[in-house]
Amino acid sequence: MRDPETIAAKLVEGDRLALSRSISWAENGDPRFPETLGRIWEHVGRARRTGITGPPGAGKSTLVNELARHLREDGRTVGILAIDPSSPFSGGALLGDRIRMEDRTSDSGVFIRSMASRESHGGLARASVDACDVMDAYGFDDLLVETVGVGQAEYDVVGAADTVLVVLCPGAGDGIQAMKAGLLEVADILVVNKSDLPGADRLQTDLEEATHTRDIRRDGWEVPVVGVSAAKDEGLEKLLGAIDEHRAHLEKTGLAAVRREKRAQQVERVVGERLEEELWGSNGLGQRVDSALNEGSTAYDIAETILEDVLSGKLAALGRDSKTKAAR
Ligand code: GDP
Repeated sequence: MRDPETIAAKLVEGDRLALSRSISWAENGDPRFPETLGRIWEHVGRARRTGITGPPGAGKSTLVNELARHLREDGRTVGILAIDPSSPFSGGALLGDRIRMEDRTSDSGVFIRSMASRESHGGLARASVDACDVMDAYGFDDLLVETVGVGQAEYDVVGAADTVLVVLCPGAGDGIQAMKAGLLEVADILVVNKSDLPGADRLQTDLEEATHTRDIRRDGWEVPVVGVSAAKDEGLEKLLGAIDEHRAHLEKTGLAAVRREKRAQQVERVVGERLEEELWGSNGLGQRVDSALNEGSTAYDIAETILEDVLSGKLAALGRDSKTKAAR
């Protein structure tokens, strides 16, 4: 089972090995992935995609675990993608963290996969969208995409979801810090986790004020602030209700258009990644840069001559034989 046709056929039949393998292909930029995606494309688009981000320690893993449990109780199947942009280790990086989720892994209605940063810079957001498409075609009702920290890479990843939850908790990084970090701008729903701890009410009030006084959304959605305690299983139904409401809002205001815009971003990522790969992979540019640097040229001068060559067609930016090239 190593060719796109078989993998695609098995995947939509619900084969777990095909699911894992196609996600690995997406993650590794394997040349077999594009064809696989093409073959499953008609099955992509049904799953509800929720992104979960927030500072480390806010309780994201605990919350994702609880959300998955509630969704399963409602009879929904769940695919979970845990992303760690800061980790140089591929796969497995978060598995230690996921031990708490083991109770879910014996359930065939739940799938958990972790993904970590690779050398390619923009690659993680692209790969996570691909992985979601694969899980979507496989047939999961809900996809939960969780990132580990707070930064541009995390925003890119969760931004590909339909609904973004920003999880905060009292103490560690309070409301003000979250605002500074630009967290409010990416949130469709603000979650105050650890509501059982002192300071949670205050954080909730601060965030409610912030969402009311700042015009952070223009599409008519009022970002709700939902208090929960993931560890104590409190407030989860309310949070799931808020996710449903946001989904309904999107459907009313044009989910298709929002998704199209996100698809366009994915096209940009793929083009950028492929261009870079082709350009640096097959033109001996590394050597050319080295010798120009030895001659004392500036980075801008060197870049300019390379760009001139690309734009005038002297350098093959996208080779026609690219499909036969080995994966990176
Ligand atoms: P993450 O880094 O955001 O994924 O956070 P974790 O899910 O690993 O949780 C960090 C710590 O907070 C763990 O020790 C959890 O047990 C604890 N925690 C998670 N949710 C709650 C909660 O609702 N209340 C309290 N008091 N602790 C929680």
